[in-house]
Amino acid sequence: SLKCGIVGLPNVGKSTLFNALTQSGIEAANYPFCTIEPNVGIVEVPDPRMDALAAIVKPQKMQPAIVEFVDIAGLVAGASKGEGLGNQFLANIRETDAIVNVVRCFDDDNIVHVSGKVDPIADIETIGTELALADLASVEKALIREGKRAKAGDKDAQKLVALLEKLLPHLNEGKPVRSFGLDADDKALLRPLFLLTVKPAMYVANVAEDGFDDNPHLQRLRELAAKENAPVVALCAALESEIAELEAGEKTEFLAEMGLEEPGLNRLIRAGYDLLGLQTYFTAGVKEVRAWTIKKGDTAPQAAGVIHTDFERGFIRAQVIAYEDFIALGGEAKAKEAGKMRAEGKEYVVRDGDVIHFLFNV
Ligand code: GDP
Repeated sequence: SLKCGIVGLPNVGKSTLFNALTQSGIEAANYPFCTIEPNVGIVEVPDPRMDALAAIVKPQKMQPAIVEFVDIAGLVAGASKGEGLGNQFLANIRETDAIVNVVRCFDDDNIVHVSGKVDPIADIETIGTELALADLASVEKALIREGKRAKAGDKDAQKLVALLEKLLPHLNEGKPVRSFGLDADDKALLRPLFLLTVKPAMYVANVAEDGFDDNPHLQRLRELAAKENAPVVALCAALESEIAELEAGEKTEFLAEMGLEEPGLNRLIRAGYDLLGLQTYFTAGVKEVRAWTIKKGDTAPQAAGVIHTDFERGFIRAQVIAYEDFIALGGEAKAKEAGKMRAEGKEYVVRDGDVIHFLFNV
């Protein structure tokens, strides 16, 4: 399954955040397709729609979607030259599908900042430069290798070389591949290179408890992120780790006292899921209300394949009720009566929240 890698300079609050995630996480053993490693946290995707569906269907069981976060330690300036745990760091990040960049946006004289002062923009540049330099090295190596094949007349190699030659100056400026404006074909060509800066990225601003408003660090980060079209989640990692340690009852009480509807982690988890290009459709029966994870753009047969490969192979059609209709009309029977249950075929692109029942041949 797809994973978000958590990166950031030392002392920005990564471990604190990761511990909060794993505290509120679930047993990996129940999810055979997940990675069981100390640095991988598996968390349920908080989705209020599940509760709304359950209130109507009254199922025996609920099964939310899950997403994986990987704690990737060891980023320091010079990582791309193998400094610190540089090589291991880059290898770990290569195995993730999206990058969650934790940035320190709190002032605290007791906690050392690696470069001497709190400066989110400089920190982001440090990280961005290391990743871009690592990609630059990959591109240069590939140019040598593919250049020979291109000269020998290999058409695919010629296409790749042309693309790499355009990418080279972009990376040389320390810019990420994702900002180059690649189309789907370009991305497919580049896939074998396992570049780092092509992965989607977002920022987590680690702020002080009272640092959500009037915080110049956060403001600068937001401005930068807006230019990059990157999402920002602001939270206080220290507070999140305290919340994560509370029992369910205490947690509700604590959040209410703070005037919060949910922990900040929930926003992070949903943003991570979205960043990975994932979305949810539901099956809603009395036995179980379940959230199934698919990629944005997946068709009905592909969505069926997530339940079982036989469902994809033998797909006949999908009976689909939009989430809003299901809730507004009060369930499947009434939605059907109102003509809101659609029969969709092989070409149907599933929408986020669709409540689906598949018909298939075995
Ligand atoms: P990492 O090196 O990025 O994994 O950072 P850690 O999670 O180990 O945090 C570094 C230090 O910053 C620790 O002493 C944390 O207690 C402290 N810290 C983490 N998050 C916060 C926060 O939100 N506010 C404050 N004041 N300190 C924090």
